[in-house]
Amino acid sequence: MKLAHREIVIALREPFVSNNGVTTQVRQRVVELTWRDLRGLGTARGAEPAGLDACAPALAGASPYGLRAALDALPDVGAATRSAVDMALHDLLGKAVGRPLHQLLGLDGLPVPPTALSIGACPDDELVRRGRALAHWPVLKLKLTAQDDGSRAGVLRSVYPGRIRVDGNGSWDLAQALRVAEELHRHDVELLEQPVAPGRPDDLRQVHERSPVPVFADEDCATPEDVLRLRGHVSGVNIKLVTCGGLSEAHRMILLARACGVRTMLGCKVESALGVSAMAQLAPLADHLDLDGPVGLRDDPFTGVRIDEGTLSLPTGPGIGAITLQQTPTHLGKGLT
Ligand SMILES: [Mg+2]
Repeated sequence: MKLAHREIVIALREPFVSNNGVTTQVRQRVVELTWRDLRGLGTARGAEPAGLDACAPALAGASPYGLRAALDALPDVGAATRSAVDMALHDLLGKAVGRPLHQLLGLDGLPVPPTALSIGACPDDELVRRGRALAHWPVLKLKLTAQDDGSRAGVLRSVYPGRIRVDGNGSWDLAQALRVAEELHRHDVELLEQPVAPGRPDDLRQVHERSPVPVFADEDCATPEDVLRLRGHVSGVNIKLVTCGGLSEAHRMILLARACGVRTMLGCKVESALGVSAMAQLAPLADHLDLDGPVGLRDDPFTGVRIDEGTLSLPTGPGIGAITLQQTPTHLGKGLT
């Protein structure tokens, strides 16, 4: 198979504020793997052009039916780059047999959890406005920063009746995190993600043991080994394709977490429907979803997964089911022709 890649730049509807700064557009690389008359698509924010070029020779003789061998032959290129290639291989496999990936995995008929919508750091009056406007969403995720003490969850709670999760993005030390957790509990917050900086397993465990709100790891969880290590240190883990290295690893981590009694949340970046359509294929296996990536985009060149006020509808097309807008479905492979 042949590998090509290009960058897409997508404008946001509104600037997004987090601990990492203010974002007005996202850039991500799109990978195309061509095999016979089929084209597999993959993507990842942070995928490296040089790393993708380095993968091309290893894929030259590959077949989608040999997906595992193809992945084993890839050079060490980093999780995001690997994820984009892994995604395109899964897309090709589904297109080669003409079925959506979630059907190949036998996941039809399972319930799909609703997805949360993230609210970035913003002034309280803006938070009130958004909380009212989003009242029909079943779950919201509030991003907090080091300056927050948790009381902003109360501001949101005053206007929003649904489920609230909070993402600390590693903002606090142990004592602060415990105070924040107590405050969040007063506002009926159901889940606190990554309260302390990554790489402090004892602090994370102590927050988990003493917090009245269940604690999930995000930045601390990138590999199947992390899932094992975090068992007993958290209630659950957030799994993202760009950090774990793709659908193969994400699938393994979900099954491992389930076997260990660790709950799972599937997350994404602010990103095109292309990558979220891929992660959505695993959604029936997850406890929670945080797959709102395309919701805030102004001009996403892809469509696929549908997100309707928190309800996720899995793509019905073959493979990961993402469709390039302005192209007819007949470009996409056997399942749609
Ligand atoms: Mg997070």
